[in-house]
Amino acid sequence: MTSDAPLYRHRVHFLSQNFFIKDHRAELLLHAHKYDFDIVFYSELAQFVAAVGLDTGASLFVIDLDALHNMQSDLGDGRKTLMLGELLARLPPGREYVYLQSARQGGRFLLQQRLVDSNCLAYAEKPIANDVLVDKLFNLFVQKKRGDTVRLVALGAAGELDDAALLRQQVEVIHHKEATTLHLRVKELQPDLVLIGDSEFVRLDAIARVLRKNIEADPVRETVLLQRSPDPALTRRALASGFDAILHRSDLDLLTAQLVNRAGKIRVNKDLIGKDRATGLLNKIGLQRKTQDLIRQATQENKPLAFAVIDIDKFKTINDTWGHHFGDIVIKRLCLSLAPHMGERDLLSRFGGEEFVAVFWDCTLPAAWQRLDAMRQAFGAIAFQVGRAETRCFSFSGGLAGFPEQRSENELFLRADAMLYTAKESGRNRICPAP
Ligand code: GH3
Ligand code: MG
Ligand code: MG
Repeated sequence: MTSDAPLYRHRVHFLSQNFFIKDHRAELLLHAHKYDFDIVFYSELAQFVAAVGLDTGASLFVIDLDALHNMQSDLGDGRKTLMLGELLARLPPGREYVYLQSARQGGRFLLQQRLVDSNCLAYAEKPIANDVLVDKLFNLFVQKKRGDTVRLVALGAAGELDDAALLRQQVEVIHHKEATTLHLRVKELQPDLVLIGDSEFVRLDAIARVLRKNIEADPVRETVLLQRSPDPALTRRALASGFDAILHRSDLDLLTAQLVNRAGKIRVNKDLIGKDRATGLLNKIGLQRKTQDLIRQATQENKPLAFAVIDIDKFKTINDTWGHHFGDIVIKRLCLSLAPHMGERDLLSRFGGEEFVAVFWDCTLPAAWQRLDAMRQAFGAIAFQVGRAETRCFSFSGGLAGFPEQRSENELFLRADAMLYTAKESGRNRICPAP
């Protein structure tokens, strides 16, 4: 781990007018860094086009159309202002672009239509506040990535779903047979989508209400009725009874496409709710959900878990001495130094400001101590540049707790937090309890 590895996960290539850059550059960058991406600015079309061509496609490409006023076309004889059509024609094909336009442009429908049909990923209207623009660009990153598997529990739809096609689109289908135990299965599996056949609903009218009225029900979850043939009276009853939507069985491909669409929206919502924007790690909400999942799996597979709370030492002093922005960079580096130590089934969360939680799958307390202590040493070895020729190293303390000794997520957290307190009290830069 070197301290000059890229700090931010994503990148935006931004073609923009000079004065826009001058006024907004620093502030845009500050916001962007809080959302885990960096921005590279271009004022020359040729440079922008070259960067787009070299990019793997993981970045976003943003074009401020006001830049047109300032740009000269060097095609043909003499220099003239670049026209929109010329600009669009010179953008590398096979990519999608975010266009920043003026409200005046947006008011002209034909121009708007031309733009959305020109490899447009999204458009934004100026004036737009820097923090809003950054937030919206971040949403585009979230939508671009494949993300987590969405889980669907289906009742009374055996043989009527294309399970394999859905799985290819990261929708895992679990069929359940018994209507009167569906609520228990849903409680256990916490699916994102519940699909219920119309005949099951006719037989058991309360089925969606029982799912929905559980105070612990996930508010993002969708309950969908699968209807055999159009029946407005039944549709009306279903909507009144707690179903979110009605889908039709008539065409398998259409049904798959619609479920994949809904799953995509759910995936984006979950990501926005359950992840920390600055680091891409799980936040407190996401961690809670995933830890409960992991505890359930550990119980089934009879495996131990270790739960670690990590807190940077004397972080207030770091902020006070070198500024909040520097503090943010320390947090980011810590996150980047922890991530490579995590296994596939482990969890890593930014729990709060400078506090992290790691959950180790199939790991005893002594083994967890070894792993966390190695992480402590790795972070402690990073030299941060604090002055022209001055570097400093920082440390964190950690507390550990184990499942099944602690039985719930809450007990695990309380115990690990108490152990963190012990580590702080006994001098910091250590993990408690030591084996
Ligand atoms: P200790 O060793 O006992 O943990 O001392 P500490 O100074 O680190 O104390 P504490 O953990 O209570 O301090 C947390 C500080 O972290 C308080 C808050 O101002 C700061 N902080 C919280 N979130 C952020 C953040 O996102 N960025 C920055 N720069 N600072 C943050
Ligand atoms: Mg703290
Ligand atoms: Mg601290």
